[in-house]
Amino acid sequence: MSATSVIIVGGGVIGLSAAFHLAQSGGVHVILLEKGAVGAGASSRAGGIITGHLWSKTGVEARKISLRLYHELSEELSAYGYQYQAVGCLNLFSPADWPERKSLLPLYDECRAPYEILDAAEIRHRWPLLRSSDDAVGLFDPLGGYSEPDDYIPALAQKCRDLGVDIREGVTVSAFAKERERVKGIVADGELLEADRVICAVHSWTNRLLASVARPLPVKSFVHQRYLTEPLAQAARLPAVNANPYEAYLRPAKGNRILVGGETAGRAELGTPSLAFDMATLRAPNGFGDSLRAKAQPLLPALERYRFIEERVGLISFAMDGEPVLGEVPGWPGLYVGAAFHSGGFAYNPVAGKLLAELATAGVTELDIAAFSPARFSAAATDAYLDSRLRQQDAFSRRH
Ligand SMILES: Cc1cc2nc3c(=O)[nH]c(=O)nc-3n(C[C@H](O)[C@H](O)[C@H](O)COP(=O)(O)OP(=O)(O)OC[C@H]3O[C@@H](n4cnc5c(N)ncnc54)[C@H](O)[C@@H]3O)c2cc1C
Repeated sequence: MSATSVIIVGGGVIGLSAAFHLAQSGGVHVILLEKGAVGAGASSRAGGIITGHLWSKTGVEARKISLRLYHELSEELSAYGYQYQAVGCLNLFSPADWPERKSLLPLYDECRAPYEILDAAEIRHRWPLLRSSDDAVGLFDPLGGYSEPDDYIPALAQKCRDLGVDIREGVTVSAFAKERERVKGIVADGELLEADRVICAVHSWTNRLLASVARPLPVKSFVHQRYLTEPLAQAARLPAVNANPYEAYLRPAKGNRILVGGETAGRAELGTPSLAFDMATLRAPNGFGDSLRAKAQPLLPALERYRFIEERVGLISFAMDGEPVLGEVPGWPGLYVGAAFHSGGFAYNPVAGKLLAELATAGVTELDIAAFSPARFSAAATDAYLDSRLRQQDAFSRRH
């Protein structure tokens, strides 16, 4: 049975991207339901950095598609005020951490994901503002870069509306409905809204919402934060930098600013207490911004002169094995979930939306995504994982 109607729950970049791909393919009535305003979750808080240098074959292949789509979106959304910033992404490593990443280079070669290995002198030559330590190794992704969430989200939402997507804000979905062993819609405000397929793209709220119909996923969320400096005298010529030895990442930002972010490695996981939970209630630890600036300053001395004037705090979520969860919910034909994109959901969104749209319309995806399947976790391992209480440093530190 081909789908003529699809409901998407969640108006972050994953839900919006799925809506965009469905609407673009034509012939499907798409309704997107968002409990707050579009972008109100993690998406508007993201750094928007993307690199193709991931950890698994499926991840690398998926990111290649995302990078291609970001370039295409730049054209499709330029009239809406969005532009992909193709400044490249520099992944920095200490000598101790480099061997682990070096072991992934054959995978990048196999997948034809381009890279350059740069020493400190070359890094300084290319980006004179950067002062990486003499023994640092740089893995440069020439296709990487970033998107400004404040440009991308409104542009994608408006494009979706123009393509006919019915975006309804302020609607909280409380359950999924089933008929003859297939999904038949969702329940919101006590009312049943029917559709042939449903996509669940609610990030940290996933287990809360799936609780009524399926086993929970082994996914944990952690508080994460990023900052913007006051405007610099002139635009900073920099790539996006995953500055791992400095426990930070940074990139140039709109308005001659610099965006700097970092994990709170020692902070314990944070469960999403209810469907009503609002990420705007989250706070970074006192003084975290200052300590992050001090950590990043040896790499980018210019930070000494520019204060942070804006902080955004949200949740990032990790599955037990660090890979995203994307596919059909076990026992619920026609219900698809996309979640646990670690701190790389912004980078994943173009391909994740495409894959979810393919599942909803054709039931299969062009890319083999068995490694992302929600069915890959055993019940025992899931229970053990969810019973544990982890700090972020004990879970994963996968960036972007
Ligand atoms: C500080 C920070 C920096 C980050 N930096 C980067 C980065 O540089 N690069 C990168 O790739 N990623 C980054 N990320 C991660 C990225 O933001 C997320 O992975 C991504 O935004 C997830 O998108 P999403 O659509 O799944 O989630 P969200 O944007 O959270 O969207 C889910 C939506 O579902 C809605 N919702 C929840 N429950 C319901 C319900 N019952 N009914 C209706 N609606 C519901 C929520 O209101 C929310 O808007 C960062 C995250 C943070 C917090």
